[in-house]
Amino acid sequence: MLPGAITTPAHSADAARPVGAGASATAPAVAVRSGDANRRSLADSRRPRPAGNAGNAGTVGNGGGGLVGLARPPVKLPAQLDVQAGYAGQNSCDPTDKPGSVAYGQLLTSIYPAGVYGISRSCTEYGTSEHKDGRAIDFMINAKDPAQRKVGDAIVNWVTADNGAIARRLGVMYLIWNGKFWGGYAPEDGWIPYQGSNPHTDHIHTSLTWDGAMKRTSWWTGVALPVWDRGPCVAATGEYAPIYLAARTSPCPSPLAALRTSHATAVLGSSGAEVTFAQKLLVGSATGTFTSSFWRVVRDWQARKHLPVTGVLDQATWALLDPASRR
Ligand SMILES: [Zn+2]
Repeated sequence: MLPGAITTPAHSADAARPVGAGASATAPAVAVRSGDANRRSLADSRRPRPAGNAGNAGTVGNGGGGLVGLARPPVKLPAQLDVQAGYAGQNSCDPTDKPGSVAYGQLLTSIYPAGVYGISRSCTEYGTSEHKDGRAIDFMINAKDPAQRKVGDAIVNWVTADNGAIARRLGVMYLIWNGKFWGGYAPEDGWIPYQGSNPHTDHIHTSLTWDGAMKRTSWWTGVALPVWDRGPCVAATGEYAPIYLAARTSPCPSPLAALRTSHATAVLGSSGAEVTFAQKLLVGSATGTFTSSFWRVVRDWQARKHLPVTGVLDQATWALLDPASRR
């Protein structure tokens, strides 16, 4: 593959396994009986296509107004809303469930206890996805079942009502549900037709902002954020960004030109000769599989070498690990 490309060889269609139905002691605000949420694979959002020309496609389903109070915030909400965040798509490989993502999944489960959710997904899957940052949530609910669709509509309408007031409080970057897309960074566009291949009729996809993913928004803290976290910056064009460490509220500096080596970029979950080669250099023995423990080895080595700590066998890492491979 091309060095440094964010896309990596496609593996299984979907690894965002819904996790258990969660502790949902809170009473459901929407009482709808239904069977298990649909656990079929998702092959999810890939890069959303918010730039539709459909204009305002209206709300999803009905009941757009008045659906306040589906869930209760854990703190007293301030009168002010959080700042409207911009779009910050996945650029790192950090598939660990972030605290705000877990809290959001639990929130949806409190609304609809039969729902299950999944968060992180392997970086080896094709395409850009905030699941690979641990900040996208798939909430399994079936739009083809009238009762479940009513719940799904109620949830997304609650989140997006009033120009996305609750979305700002929760740090929702965008939603995909039942063939439609809503972007929190362009709420004036309303719901527009979703252009991706998966129509999202078996789950609600939510990508969170970094503030939402790190549970820093007013829904959780009671304090409205005045600035938004733009997430990690790539150091060099085409490389992965470092693993998230702290908020960044200023724009990224211009990326450097990427180094080039004869090695292919490899990520957590990859396997094969490149991984074997690196393991022999870094740990002295090789399994050929980029496991979580090897992920730690790569990150530690990058930190020691003052490289961007991407956790990826990227071109900058290869250039230092195997200088003869430089082009
Ligand atoms: Zn998803």
